[in-house]
Amino acid sequence: MKLIGLSKTGDQARVEFFRCPLRCGYCTHIRMDKEERQVTEVVEFLADPSVKDVYIGGAEPTMQKKELLDLLQRLRRMNKRITLKTSGNDPAFLKSTIGIVQRFVIEVKCPLDDIACNSRLVGLPPERTRKYLDSLNRTLDVLKGQNVRVWIRVIPGFVTPERIESIGKQIAGRASEVYLYQFMSDPANDAPFGDITAPGPTETEMVALARQLVRFVPRIVVRGKGFESEFSGSG
Ligand code: SF4
Repeated sequence: MKLIGLSKTGDQARVEFFRCPLRCGYCTHIRMDKEERQVTEVVEFLADPSVKDVYIGGAEPTMQKKELLDLLQRLRRMNKRITLKTSGNDPAFLKSTIGIVQRFVIEVKCPLDDIACNSRLVGLPPERTRKYLDSLNRTLDVLKGQNVRVWIRVIPGFVTPERIESIGKQIAGRASEVYLYQFMSDPANDAPFGDITAPGPTETEMVALARQLVRFVPRIVVRGKGFESEFSGSG
């Protein structure tokens, strides 16, 4: 399997896969060099009994389905708690992992019917963006009822209050929680995009977006540079 990262800290471990079908202009992960690993080697690394939770992300893990499924099944047999982060491009595969994965993290970038906004963010022409959004929509449908965290990277000028309202309506009943992440608050996650070179929006703006979303999704986590808060159904 081809990875861009394999690490453990305390009881948590991370396995980060190489390659992604999207081309987001701010992505730091698609520019990283790959390292070749055997699944058995990765499993041995994670077999450490102190590791309880394994986060699998990347770039996009489902691009290497055979190796990913093998890894997931072996981790499950070791009773590890598995979180799988995906851009939602392979709903059929993701459906097959229900019962193995404890939590899905699915990134939503703009409203699911806004081709222009998504196309700009994912760096694909409109027709390929349409296909990606169709897959993402089907993923949210097949994982309905599962533990699904929708992850939103709030990029100033793109993720506006109007668009958050649309996203809220579209993911209502399909997400257990939303994680609102302030763009560029973690340099490991984002490269500058257009003229955006510093963390934003402000904490106040992020909290306002969370208050909007909590009308649609039971729990919202907001995190940015120097702040973190949570909102639940009561707001
Ligand atoms: S930001 Fe995520 S979805 Fe976009 S290219 Fe990078 S790994 Fe893929």
